[in-house]
Amino acid sequence: MNYAIDFPGVPVIPVAESNKTFPVGRIYCVGRNYAEHAREMGHDPDREPPFFFMKPADAIVQNGATLNFPKATKDLHHEIEMVVAIGKGGADIPESKALDHIFGYGVGLDMTRRDLQGEAKKMGRPWEMGKAFDESAPCTALKPVAMVGHPAKGAIWLKVNGEVKQKGDLAEMIWNVPEMISYLSRLITLRPGDLIYSGTPAGVGPVRAGDKLEGHVDGVGDLTISYAR
Ligand code: MN
Repeated sequence: MNYAIDFPGVPVIPVAESNKTFPVGRIYCVGRNYAEHAREMGHDPDREPPFFFMKPADAIVQNGATLNFPKATKDLHHEIEMVVAIGKGGADIPESKALDHIFGYGVGLDMTRRDLQGEAKKMGRPWEMGKAFDESAPCTALKPVAMVGHPAKGAIWLKVNGEVKQKGDLAEMIWNVPEMISYLSRLITLRPGDLIYSGTPAGVGPVRAGDKLEGHVDGVGDLTISYAR
């Protein structure tokens, strides 16, 4: 590319057991996709269709990283999520074909500046400054479908400093993976390289400088992120 500026390039995630990498295009996140989490945030999980927000691709953080505590927040929260990586784009994808568009799966954290998100909700403003900040999207290496299949049940949990804080099962998703892909593809055209963070189970809570976060999704992987003191 003959860029006119010194451009840092497209963020990538490793692919498990491969020397190839997955280029990250856009990051879509599903809101309130586990009933208990919707309730803990003060919403009725039965009435709402899925909704989406975004993070920039360069919010990606590699597994094992030590991060500085983010700017401008006094209430950083963890949200452990399964990440769906899109390998084949498309629009108006029927649920019955949705799985054909998936390259693989990873384990991610939708890090959230809950104080800024709460203020945005209250003021009727966009969520970006609460959700789409630097280093807000840690993700493991992706396991291709050939290795992991299409996980639809199995434990998803997060520990902070060795103590379990979030615990759920993929089967508890309100909108499952084919449904979220189909729904999203009727709103935007999905592109290869897109990631979908599929929502978090209950138990979200604060993260402090010095904390170690360990996340897990059965069969998909383990994610470890530390915050510097
Ligand atoms: Mn989330």
